Amino acid sequence: MNLERKLTTLTKKMYDKTIRQCTDAEVYNCVLQLTKELMADKPVIDGDKKVYYISMEFLIGKLLSNNLINLGIYDEMSAILAKKGKTLAAIEEAEPEPSLGNGGLGRLAACFLDSIASLGLPGDGIGLNYHFGLFKQVFKKHLQNAEKNKWIEKNSWLTNTGVEFEVAFGDKKVTSVLYDIDVVGYGQGCNKLHLFDVKGLDEKLVKKGIDFDKTATDKNLTLFLYPDDSDEAGNLLRVYQEYFMVSNAAQLIIRELKQKGVDLYEMDKHAVIQINDTHPTMVIPELIRILTWEEDFTIEDAIQVVSKTCAYTNHTILAEALEKWPLSYIEKVVPQLVPIIKELNARVKKQYKDPKVQIIDESKRVHMAHIDIHYGFSVNGVAAIHTDILKETELNHFYKLYPEKFNNKTNGITFRRWLLSCNRELADLLDATIGDGYKKDAFELEKLLTKKEDQKVLDAIDDIKKQKKATLVSYIQEKEGIELDPNSIFDIQVKRLHEYKRQQMNALYIIHKYLEIKAGKKPVRPITFIFGAKAAPAYIIARDIIHLLLVMSDIINKDPEVSPYMKLVMVENYNVSYAEKLIPACDISEQISLASKEASGTGNMKFMLNGAVTLGTEDGANVEIHELVGDENIYTFGKDSDTVIAHYAKADYVSRDYYEQSPVIKEAVDFIVSKQALKIGNKENLERLYNELLNKDWFMTLLDLEEYIEVKDKCFADFEDREKWKRMMLVNIAKAGFFSSDRTIEEYNRDIWKLR
Ligand SMILES: *Cc1c(COP(=O)(O)O)cnc(C)c1O
Repeated sequence: MNLERKLTTLTKKMYDKTIRQCTDAEVYNCVLQLTKELMADKPVIDGDKKVYYISMEFLIGKLLSNNLINLGIYDEMSAILAKKGKTLAAIEEAEPEPSLGNGGLGRLAACFLDSIASLGLPGDGIGLNYHFGLFKQVFKKHLQNAEKNKWIEKNSWLTNTGVEFEVAFGDKKVTSVLYDIDVVGYGQGCNKLHLFDVKGLDEKLVKKGIDFDKTATDKNLTLFLYPDDSDEAGNLLRVYQEYFMVSNAAQLIIRELKQKGVDLYEMDKHAVIQINDTHPTMVIPELIRILTWEEDFTIEDAIQVVSKTCAYTNHTILAEALEKWPLSYIEKVVPQLVPIIKELNARVKKQYKDPKVQIIDESKRVHMAHIDIHYGFSVNGVAAIHTDILKETELNHFYKLYPEKFNNKTNGITFRRWLLSCNRELADLLDATIGDGYKKDAFELEKLLTKKEDQKVLDAIDDIKKQKKATLVSYIQEKEGIELDPNSIFDIQVKRLHEYKRQQMNALYIIHKYLEIKAGKKPVRPITFIFGAKAAPAYIIARDIIHLLLVMSDIINKDPEVSPYMKLVMVENYNVSYAEKLIPACDISEQISLASKEASGTGNMKFMLNGAVTLGTEDGANVEIHELVGDENIYTFGKDSDTVIAHYAKADYVSRDYYEQSPVIKEAVDFIVSKQALKIGNKENLERLYNELLNKDWFMTLLDLEEYIEVKDKCFADFEDREKWKRMMLVNIAKAGFFSSDRTIEEYNRDIWKLR
């Protein structure tokens, strides 16, 4: 039966209407149902060995367009809907975005699932089905408020599998329910994303905002992603969630291996477990526990085989982000793992005296990463510079013990979502210009370099950018009620809010520009500064930075002297769907983290692929972007990672010195607590931020501020050389092939997983 007939049958069956008579939301539900059925008909990707990607987060984004693209029926579906007076874009608006991740780490997991399936490799994701996921951000009185994000509707991509497992905690037993989401590869069969839910979850526990009883773990386990961890109950809940996830993962994996008739002593030949950051680390002791308690393994045999099965990905060198759980927490939540962890610790202690590599430290805290490194076979960083820092500094003690375990896998993004789906216009131009081979082999984008002097192609790229900017202007007008100038320069910084990412440095530039315009120095072309960022609810300074941005936005946009020359908008509730609208419309991609602190970044890659030019520090994958595009096609600034690391080692960075030595810095910083700012903003928030910048500034904002201002001004000036800028856009697109997550996954497979 053809697609149109199938859809007509469905709308008749579900709503007793024709396609034309249905509302967009009704059509969405029918297309969802139809797409799910088509995916269910696809073969399961099979093989002798399978990868299990365990992650607390899968920031998958809306799935409709992506699934239609991967099934190869996007154009056909578009045409059918158009014939009935509908548009796929409008129908997509009816789809809620799954809220199962925070930021880059979760988005990476989602890109990886797409690439694993698209390469035809057997690999499933395993995670949790948070009903309210990450909070929804709402701005009130220039402040971030957190609300629950109820994203699961009656019809959704989730399928209840009927599979249930028992999970035992120290103080209770719970039952889990397994939901699956099909992951269809591009022109391939399907893998699965397995999401576990706790049976008996009580959504009514959530009272106001995102507050709930954190101790009722049998009823709250899968309510939220990373609930407020500023108090003890929140931290304990996180340990409950982690164990819940890995206990289910271990049971699922062993069940599948047994169904395949695998001898568990040869587990490593049929399964490989990729541990995404340290959150799933307890899968190691949990598997060892199951093998020894239930499968009669000796502890030695269990440790051997589990160590050959598990591989660990490190995502950060921020000390405060490396998990160290008090042993007492683990004793309370999962006492059954304590003897195993103590045994693992004892073996390390016997072999190595260095206190820096012990699993349990002197304050009786369990270092989760240390379990992964000693008892996994691979440790990878996520960009070249990040892996180098791990080897030479952060994990140097481990690198000396196990040099062979360390390897780099520079992150990537799926081009299906971040090009084909979010920028059809550009994809179509590429098809017409270099053929569509790049869809299977992203390196073919380099063919575009032969068009570097082709005026028609250069103009076409620029036209698409203009079109995407116009579309974004309408969207922001509708969503945020702010009118933007499509002819202005779009300078965008969107990512989680964190001091190391230095949104505050960008804010200081904006204050500086505002004061310049007030003083009569007007930019040749208006500039639009766009931010999007959620701050962890317990991260006070991050929320203060959002406050500053919202206050500045008010001051600038309402000032008739200034607003013709600059506008500032902080979009509400930045998420994947918003990213898909912002990124294609960007001229300048802000990637300004303090060197050494951003492990890789993936936003930087999405922008590059869509023809934005990077303004960035030599950090994370920016370094590799720089190498690929060359000095002429990127704007870099700031102290390098060696210098920054030396400042930390010597503890000799004093922000006040930079403030006192530079009138420009002083003026901008002082504005935060000026009468003008305090008239609109809150004294408490602004003074706290001001004091933080002057007295601590742990992420060295003022260190790079002057050079940032200089290079950013140069960047804006260069934008006026339109022909030069068009060539920069072209080179960035042409060189982005390296950042396809297909390349990343091929490397994981070649070096770590060895599937087939
Ligand atoms: C890609 C992405 C991120 C990661 O951005 P970085 O700039 O690499 O931190 C975060 N959130 C969303 C919604 C994304 O799509």
